Amino acid sequence: MTTQQDSDFRDGMPFLGSRLWIDFANSAPVALGDFLATPEGWTSWLAAAGLKAGVGRKGAAVVDLGAVHALRAALSRLFDALQTGTRPAASDLDLVNQHLAAGAAPPRISWRDGEVLVERKEAGDMDPLAAIATDFADFAAHYETARLRHCANPECSLIFYDTARNGARRWCSMSACGNRHKVRSHRMRAAKLECS
Ligand SMILES: [Zn+2]
Repeated sequence: MTTQQDSDFRDGMPFLGSRLWIDFANSAPVALGDFLATPEGWTSWLAAAGLKAGVGRKGAAVVDLGAVHALRAALSRLFDALQTGTRPAASDLDLVNQHLAAGAAPPRISWRDGEVLVERKEAGDMDPLAAIATDFADFAAHYETARLRHCANPECSLIFYDTARNGARRWCSMSACGNRHKVRSHRMRAAKLECS
């Protein structure tokens, strides 16, 4: 067994979705509340995600929480649409497209050492909502439907993309939901033994 679960939470916020756009969709877990309810919360989340705060034309930090929440809601619905193969709302696709058009950086090509060099902007250098929209677009180009999962704990609202080789991941996090389940089933087994 490997123990790679230490990075499931950063600053108490879940970063376990295996993709930036899924972590963003997970930023309002039912059990923990909305981490993006305030501008300060958004700033903390961006720092934990390794993204820069959006900067307006005059250099001032832009905090449009309405836009943040709208994109998050659209991506949560898109997760379900991809998982179930259901046609998403055109307005959700439009919203992602708007962020792609507004802030995503096209790749830049140059010639170096006898080859074409393709440079892409890092997510950390883009407008954050554009970076998240770009991550969704990259993801949507190739993914396996069966690996899009909701945590197996019915009381947990977190979602993730299972990147495990065997595709058998059930929990958002072993430390959060997996261990609780293990303890519970151990207790149930123990109780049964006592009864019989
Ligand atoms: Zn969970």
